[in-house]
Amino acid sequence: MDTYDYVIVGAGSAGCVVAARLSEDPDVRVLLLEAGPSDEDPLIHLPLGFGSLFKSEFDWDDASEPEARLNGRRIPLSHGRVLGGSSSTNAMMYVRGNPADFDGWADLGLDGWGYADVLPYFLRSEDNDRFKDAFHGRGGPLGVSDSRAMTPCIDVMIEAGHAAGLPLNDDCNGARQEGIGRLQSTTRDGQRCSAAVAFLRPAMARPNLEVVTDATALGILFEGTRASGIVYERFGVRTEVRATREVVLSGGAYGTPQLLLLSGIGPAEELQALGIAVREDLPVGRNLQDHCMLPLTFFAAGGTLESAGTPQDVERYEREQRGPLASNVGEAGAFAHTRSGLPAPDLQLSIAPVMVHEDLLGPAFASAVSMSPTVVKPESRGSVTLRAARAKVKPRIRHRYLEAEEDRRTMAEGVRLVLGIAEQAAFRALTTGVHNGPASDSDADVAAFIAQGAHTVWHPVGTCAMGAVVDAELRVLGVDGLRVVDASVMPSIPRANTNAASILVGEKGADLIRGRSRIEQVPASATHTHVRLTPAGTPE
Ligand SMILES: Cc1cc2nc3c(=O)[nH]c(=O)nc-3n(C[C@H](O)[C@H](O)[C@H](O)COP(=O)(O)OP(=O)(O)OC[C@H]3O[C@@H](n4cnc5c(N)ncnc54)[C@H](O)[C@@H]3O)c2cc1C
Repeated sequence: MDTYDYVIVGAGSAGCVVAARLSEDPDVRVLLLEAGPSDEDPLIHLPLGFGSLFKSEFDWDDASEPEARLNGRRIPLSHGRVLGGSSSTNAMMYVRGNPADFDGWADLGLDGWGYADVLPYFLRSEDNDRFKDAFHGRGGPLGVSDSRAMTPCIDVMIEAGHAAGLPLNDDCNGARQEGIGRLQSTTRDGQRCSAAVAFLRPAMARPNLEVVTDATALGILFEGTRASGIVYERFGVRTEVRATREVVLSGGAYGTPQLLLLSGIGPAEELQALGIAVREDLPVGRNLQDHCMLPLTFFAAGGTLESAGTPQDVERYEREQRGPLASNVGEAGAFAHTRSGLPAPDLQLSIAPVMVHEDLLGPAFASAVSMSPTVVKPESRGSVTLRAARAKVKPRIRHRYLEAEEDRRTMAEGVRLVLGIAEQAAFRALTTGVHNGPASDSDADVAAFIAQGAHTVWHPVGTCAMGAVVDAELRVLGVDGLRVVDASVMPSIPRANTNAASILVGEKGADLIRGRSRIEQVPASATHTHVRLTPAGTPE
């Protein structure tokens, strides 16, 4: 049996960081297993290519159980199955969350996770192409950049939002989250900067890091109470590998609970019902949280991405990696309070220069823009459970979107906020009519529109939460040699798109594994080499 110091399952946002950071020590051997293939397809690296990755070979393409508050619809649940995981298939919006999110984690007794503790990790990761202040880092592995598309209608929508009462804010990761403005994206030189590009590719040159793609972990091996390795399958062949120090699970908020449950770690009754021997009775798979989003779309006369992809666009992108093909779609955003007395915003608007279809995937058939309210601090909770005691059977995912009345109220306020923005002169000059919106602003019409149109923004977290399944050092309770390092450890969802926070969990998780409970202030530039990619997505 091949033996390593660390075996990591899942090369996603967090797993790539853990593999890269642990293998900085030449004396340890690290194995990283990824169920999906390599990430060489140029569409992964082209920002506007993101829309074509849904339901592709790089997508797990799951679906929720029928959602009671969404007219019983099964919501498509895309998440990445490729080197880089969901950071290779996401919309690249770089939003960290509100300080209150992390202080809320610390308030649960999770030492080391308050905002003051985590900010240095955000800085260590970051290579920001504009901001250079106390809130941003330069020289880190993760490229964070201004838009190279600068789609013109975005500025008009920001102006309209401001006219409707939202303060302008050009940095929601800075001193203040509230307000409306352009967002930065996880891109570098006009290309996607996934966790694989940022962290893993430079580390893959190291002889002590082995990365195996197309390798699906089936279960955790144990010696007594200690996790001692992983059994995985690759092209029909089963292999066991041994970890002398730790097994690290980074399979994401759906994949990691599935693997724990299959390995006998989870709610005892649930496991016994499937004939799985209970190793540790823990609430694995509970506490699932996600952001629910609802696009309102408006026909627009021009200046949108509808015509993107012309020969001129292709030529420009190849020449200077700018223009419409460099757009990550979600070019702007806003954070707002829907009622007074809240410690932080409860609503996000995602602002995009495209028609967002009901099924999200179809090509734009007309020039259009969209504003999508999102409930960023939901009270609704779902679950991930097993359908069968077999790794190849997809887990049962119940999100229970908008089941909490407060979440439905927040979403309704979000719809009304967008309708108010759409009334502003700047917005009216840009748009020629509603493509997708409520029949009126009455409570009944807004509620019907929400139930028919709301879906996910693909931010699942919380299924192996700190304080319930793992401790503040991410060790699985009651088991030795086993940690979870991915979005599933977040006890509550940040008020933000979740890639930056997942990378943070990777950074801090790697430090905890290395026995460092606080960050050492080493300039990231001192330890990191960037890999520049060709427009085709291969290293130069
Ligand atoms: C379509 C989409 C758009 C998004 N847009 C944004 C955005 O604009 N901004 C933002 O901040 N966030 C966005 N997100 C969310 C963000 O990308 C995720 O929160 C983040 O990537 C989660 O990181 P993770 O490490 O927990 O899991 P993932 O990145 O999903 O990684 C998990 C990895 O583990 C692998 N894996 C799972 N099970 C196994 C197994 N049994 N064996 C081997 N490998 C396994 C998976 O294949 C995957 O590669 C988006 C997500 C999606 C899907």
